[in-house]
Amino acid sequence: MPARILDGTALAQQIRTELGDRVARFTQEAGRPPGLGVVLVGDNAGSEIYVRNKLRAAVEAGFRADLERLPATATLDDVLALVARLNGSADHDGVLVQAPLPPGVGAGAAQAVFEAIDPAKDVDGLHPVNVGYLVQNRARLVPCTPSGIIELLDRSGIVIAGARAVVIGRSDIVGKPMALLLLHRHATVTICHSKTRDLAAVAAEADILVAAIGHAALVRRAFVKPGATVIDVGANRLTDPGAARDLFGAGSARMAAFERRGSAVVGDVHPEVAEVAGAMTPVPGGVGPLTIAMLMSNTLRAAELSRSRRSR
Ligand code: NAD
Repeated sequence: MPARILDGTALAQQIRTELGDRVARFTQEAGRPPGLGVVLVGDNAGSEIYVRNKLRAAVEAGFRADLERLPATATLDDVLALVARLNGSADHDGVLVQAPLPPGVGAGAAQAVFEAIDPAKDVDGLHPVNVGYLVQNRARLVPCTPSGIIELLDRSGIVIAGARAVVIGRSDIVGKPMALLLLHRHATVTICHSKTRDLAAVAAEADILVAAIGHAALVRRAFVKPGATVIDVGANRLTDPGAARDLFGAGSARMAAFERRGSAVVGDVHPEVAEVAGAMTPVPGGVGPLTIAMLMSNTLRAAELSRSRRSR
């Protein structure tokens, strides 16, 4: 039986609808909507799309959302000055600096910038203070992609406690926080990465397999225990028609769309996995929309927390 498809778009819509009452209450009590400031440095085409989607979702959710742009020639000091202004702004509860920063900002700049964001406004959950809270299982602001995946598992009725979970990828933004969240929910967690030996065999032990690699269709049938839940975080742009034909099949609807556009976004999981997995997320329409919904959730949480701190 083919895998149950876990519809991230529908769940994200449900989460955003549920936030509506809290947004209205905050706006009435605070006399202003929750506010998100997004910093975009340079003109990376992918970042432009991600930022546009985030801002649109924020406005649709009833937030104030401001895009603060800096040119690719900006220095680290320019970025830090902008972050400091947003940290001090009474209208912004969340501050997000879109990665990657252009190379001109300098090596190690991203870490310096994330550390400069007020931890109470750090809606990406990347400040070391928030990472520390996450490690100790008392997090307030958690990176959006892994927290969205936990929502997806919970709302899809997939039991985490006691499950064997394997996370492929160890980035600060996805792999590591994903592993910690699964651990805090009592899964038995293994983290794999580019140096892992016998990756397929380790992955095939998982009841819940999360692929956050950035390598199109790397996860094949042999990586998946029959009936396992497979979460595909990858968002890889495919432009090679031969590779697209291999993945989508000649004459398929996805191949026709590829031929029209000249590219397609594909995950880290090969479509053949649907024949063995019990449940899996599609790309697009799986983890991506949940990430944006959780950004809204984090911004609202930051707003509510700062208001309750001020009224104490
Ligand atoms: P990253 O490059 O920071 O990390 C990739 C990880 O994969 C590394 O830890 C590396 O060790 C591991 N890896 C690389 N090659 C491997 C291999 N052959 N075998 C095993 N492990 C390997 O990437 P990231 O920021 O964690 O993102 C991963 C993917 O998820 C990317 O495709 C990215 O675009 C996507 N992503 C999607 C969303 C979303 O909302 N849908 C959000 C964040 C990231």
